[in-house]
Amino acid sequence: MDLGTTHSLVGVWRDGVELIPNALGEVLTPSVVSLDDSGTIVVGAAARERLGSHPDRTVAAFKRYMGTPRRLALGTQTFRAEELASFVIRALRADAEAWLGEPVTEAVVTVPAYFSDAQRRATRLAGELAGLKVERVLNEPTAAALAYGLSAGSVGQDGSVLVFDLGGGTFDVSVLDIHGGIVEVRASAGDNFLGGEDFDDALVAWFVAQTGLPAPGALDAGPQGLLLAAWLRRAAEAARRRLSTHDSATMAVQLPDGTRAEALLTAEAFAALAEPLLERLRRPIARALADSRIRPAELAQVVLAGGATRMPLVRKEAARLFGRLPLHGIDPDEVVARGAAVQAGLKMRAAALQDVVLTDVAPYTLGISVMEPGGGSSDGDTGRMLPVIERNTVVPASRLRSVVPAQDFQRQVQVRIYQGESRLVRDNIALGSFSLALVPRRMQDQSIAVRFTYDIDGILEVSASSEADGTSRRIVIRHGADAPEVHDTAERRAVLSALQLHPRDGAAHRLLLARAERLYEELLGAGRETLGQAIDRFDAALHAQDPEGVHDAARALATVLQRIEPGHPT
Ligand code: AMP
Repeated sequence: MDLGTTHSLVGVWRDGVELIPNALGEVLTPSVVSLDDSGTIVVGAAARERLGSHPDRTVAAFKRYMGTPRRLALGTQTFRAEELASFVIRALRADAEAWLGEPVTEAVVTVPAYFSDAQRRATRLAGELAGLKVERVLNEPTAAALAYGLSAGSVGQDGSVLVFDLGGGTFDVSVLDIHGGIVEVRASAGDNFLGGEDFDDALVAWFVAQTGLPAPGALDAGPQGLLLAAWLRRAAEAARRRLSTHDSATMAVQLPDGTRAEALLTAEAFAALAEPLLERLRRPIARALADSRIRPAELAQVVLAGGATRMPLVRKEAARLFGRLPLHGIDPDEVVARGAAVQAGLKMRAAALQDVVLTDVAPYTLGISVMEPGGGSSDGDTGRMLPVIERNTVVPASRLRSVVPAQDFQRQVQVRIYQGESRLVRDNIALGSFSLALVPRRMQDQSIAVRFTYDIDGILEVSASSEADGTSRRIVIRHGADAPEVHDTAERRAVLSALQLHPRDGAAHRLLLARAERLYEELLGAGRETLGQAIDRFDAALHAQDPEGVHDAARALATVLQRIEPGHPT
């Protein structure tokens, strides 16, 4: 499963990768969750329509909050991001089970390379809440490479490959080595807050300035303000997508008072708006290249992933930065899910894949606090970071560092574990600590071996032992203070499992109704009245459970929608 910020996909390995369509026949399921009036959870395209009509009962882009304590509201109930993700996983699981005709119990789920430990755990928990054992949490760029790594022909030759993955909400860069079917991650860097949506935000700001509308932030947070903000964002995305294939696009929104605001956006104007965002792409690229000690000219290939790499200005920027045209042989929306399916195949030890070996890297430096060379103490936040496992070390990895106590005759040492790149531990993230009792000795007679073992799933085990005393202690870092497990109670699980997902077989009708309701809110006057009548007829037919009546009313409603919103995909 590729659990994306904007879309999610599910695939399976059966003598090759198959992407699995949802109940609407599409492989991309919008990562949007809504709670309808009857208390049923709606996931996907219908939920995305409800962002327009029921913004207070609908949530999108929650992946950004995975692993944080933030709660997002669906009506009067609130959910953590991993709980919302679990609904998406439940929907994908139901799609997979319908497609395969058998129960699905295990999954490989992808995450941005830059996800922290807490975020990876939250992802795992989301799978578990959906009744799946998450067999592997796989980095998205690694998955993208894996999708390409198999078909050596499309990569062209062995060598270093840079994966440039710009999705809806995150940007990931990874440098990988591909040699004879072996994919090794050399370095990864990224920005968890940079994606297609940031280009939408820039467009909304531009549009507001052009048309003199109040900025969404200046509106009250009431239903009208939320509605307008949602409409603006949708109009921005539509204009941006159109610009991927046209020289200009009209961005337009219907205002709550019935008037219409519009502005013409040219590719040049968009390029100027996008410049600060393109600038932000450069930093993670430079870091990934520096960490892997590779110059752009030495890269064998550049691979594009993520829907936002369809923007010509992003492709142009990538071509400029690397001095060549990036590869995009596999659909950028599908490449991560395809790689995840390959990984699932690997897991099943599919005979065809036995030559492929996969390694991964630790995304952050992990270390302990030691005393500043000039004195002071290693207590609290004042110590210096002693790296034990450096970022971009290939994992699984196990590293040993020896340290001595700060003073003679110390009775114990405190081992404080941190993650991050700063020299001083106070600027890094504390992961945990423990103490090791010592038999008091002179400093020179004491040596403490600290071992860090970091496994492929990002779980860190730290042990410390006194060589002179033969004693040792260890700690497994499972989570930080905001770890999702803390909130994962039996009571919470009961609340979640009591919520039913809208049945798959009603999906097309659900989407039609959601879209009609969204448009009803946008329209005024005669158009609204006609639409209202068509909705009433459809609703009545649904309630009467008369298949023929439902079929006719659905056709009539779809015709009305097509007249109001020509060109909208149905
Ligand atoms: P992902 O998170 O990989 O699903 O990427 C989704 C992002 O890709 C969203 O911000 C979309 O607006 C963007 N996207 C998808 N298709 C296009 C397109 N044809 N042109 C521009 N952006 C696109």
